Amino acid sequence: MAAAGRERPPIDWDSLTFSFTETDRMFVANGSWEDGWSEGRMVDFQPLNLSPAACVLNYGQGLFEGMKARRTPDGKITLFRPEMNARRAAEGARRLVMPEVSESMFIKAVKKVAEENKRWVPPHGKGELYLRPILFGSSARLGVSPAEEYMFVVFAVPVGPYFKGGMTPISLRVSQNHHRAAPGGSGGVKAIGNYAPGMMPSKRAKSEGYSEIIYLDAVEHNYVEEVGAANFFCVKDGIVYTPELTGTILPGITRLSIIELARSMGLTVVEEKVSIDFALSCDEAFCAGTAAVISPIGSIQHGEIEEDFGGVGDTTLALYERLTGIMGGALEDSFNWTVEV
Ligand SMILES: *Cc1c(COP(=O)(O)O)cnc(C)c1O
Repeated sequence: MAAAGRERPPIDWDSLTFSFTETDRMFVANGSWEDGWSEGRMVDFQPLNLSPAACVLNYGQGLFEGMKARRTPDGKITLFRPEMNARRAAEGARRLVMPEVSESMFIKAVKKVAEENKRWVPPHGKGELYLRPILFGSSARLGVSPAEEYMFVVFAVPVGPYFKGGMTPISLRVSQNHHRAAPGGSGGVKAIGNYAPGMMPSKRAKSEGYSEIIYLDAVEHNYVEEVGAANFFCVKDGIVYTPELTGTILPGITRLSIIELARSMGLTVVEEKVSIDFALSCDEAFCAGTAAVISPIGSIQHGEIEEDFGGVGDTTLALYERLTGIMGGALEDSFNWTVEV
């Protein structure tokens, strides 16, 4: 067994938060333009050895993925649509000029990491094992150009709710001075460089009592793009709206699944530009992502306006129950979204 014999304190499943914990095992593969990818290997969790001139450290040539392994009521461990994460990572690799990891290698690696860390998969309903694949240019590079060598690493962390309080509606503020992504940039892929610039506005909003910020588009500062690192949805007169993917919005797998699920439930889903004024006029709003799953939005502050959405809306709750039911294995997965590890 992995890392058997190490002394470990018992895990308190009831106090899990979305924070880092070191687990037992991780996956590491090396690649290069010349030789392609090595098969990769499972090793004990450990620091990586990198040149200070590594392309990823100096120029941000890297991307990440985020997905979860869950325990079903009958004790199996499943992943949710892992092939979608593999495809998105491959798309990101092309955008950042990195060698693609094949879908089969990606899925084999995440399954292996879930399996060899299975004691960290929380009991059904208590949380998930968050899997974090990362891909980056690892070799030294002085000029701004792609590295010769790459690493693909997958580690795992047991997590609880992303927002404190779970299904308690969160309060958000529209960022007036900062944007997440510009047309032609890298907003549509999980490039590591997209995230640090959001820390300052997000930190400031949090220090003033908000859970996260809402980004508007960088051109007109009028259309809703995302909520921090989650996609945005709103509901008006029973119709579900979400911003269309224009290249600046990250194509979330949770977002796609909600659209498909809502349509299967007979709801109308409209993907189009969603102006902030329209969003504020809606009956319900929520954000969606692997980490946040579905988090109801209780209020949005935008300039002088503070719009209150009240409690958790009926449509939000229905989508939440269906989606988490399928993800966790408590409801039948008629879409074939879940994959057993
Ligand atoms: C990862 C991410 C999301 C959500 O994507 P999922 O595939 O649903 O986890 C949304 N927005 C941003 C900016 C992200 O990085």
